[in-house]
Amino acid sequence: MLNIDLHCHSTVSDGTLTPTQLVKRAAMRGVSVLALTDHDDLDGLDEARRVASENDITFINGVEISVTWRNRTLHIVGLGVDPKYSPLVQGLEVIRNGRTTRGNKIAEELDKSGIRGSLEGAYCYAGEGGLIGRTHFARYLVDQGYAKNVKSVFKKYLVRGKPGHVTHHWASLSDAVGWICGSGGQAVIAHPARYKLGKNLLDELLLEFRALGGSGLEVITASHTPEQSLIFAHHANRMNLLASCGSDFHGPDESYFDLGLIPEFPVECKPIWHDWDKKL
Ligand code: AMP
Ligand code: MN
Ligand code: MN
Ligand code: MN
Repeated sequence: MLNIDLHCHSTVSDGTLTPTQLVKRAAMRGVSVLALTDHDDLDGLDEARRVASENDITFINGVEISVTWRNRTLHIVGLGVDPKYSPLVQGLEVIRNGRTTRGNKIAEELDKSGIRGSLEGAYCYAGEGGLIGRTHFARYLVDQGYAKNVKSVFKKYLVRGKPGHVTHHWASLSDAVGWICGSGGQAVIAHPARYKLGKNLLDELLLEFRALGGSGLEVITASHTPEQSLIFAHHANRMNLLASCGSDFHGPDESYFDLGLIPEFPVECKPIWHDWDKKL
């Protein structure tokens, strides 16, 4: 088991624990290296870093950027980013503004199918000034009895072809990778199996990503079965990409993996942290 967790969320995006609670939980579970990777937001990093240092955890500044590539949404994790790098800061602000507009549209669509008050409801879960995402809508819909849990709200209401789905244009792949690398970080494709790309499209993505300066692929994530981890370990090796791992933890009641204690890479992979001693 690795106790390196390079992907998780706090209340700054769609997690249910504050950065402090999250890092304390990681400490309790023996995590030695932790990256906080909130969606499109860097606001939790200072707090998380402070609590991590009090708990002997090596903390990595992270972010998970929403990207549109060939009409699909991809998530690109940035590790070791500089939270003061202005192209990154400004780029994320544009994405968050886009989330606000999309949130209004999601609420309108849900309203058309008879679900009232979802905007206010979602903002109750997002918190004051917080970024708005589908998970916040999902929690409100569960609360209102439209589905039994967050997972089934997504299936019934929030994915393509369902009443509350809204197509949205996120950042470009080249912008996201550019902001991450420009700030001194490493870009990693999050949960690659989730995109269900065929072999050709996957190869195109991996080649384009690498050409833009991207360096890693998540091999171990809660979204992967052991078979998918093996497949993506091979893809990482074949494409000369470094392997990353993370729980994608969102909260005690909503996640498949808890923080840390992540299975080892299934085959020999070059870990994303192989040369980090120099930087840490
Ligand atoms: P957004 O970025 O607002 O479109 O929301 C994406 C987030 O929704 C992901 O990071 C997950 O936290 C959550 N999510 C996406 N798909 C599902 C699903 N099928 N079941 C549960 N949560 C999901
Ligand atoms: Mn999320
Ligand atoms: Mn993601
Ligand atoms: Mn995530």
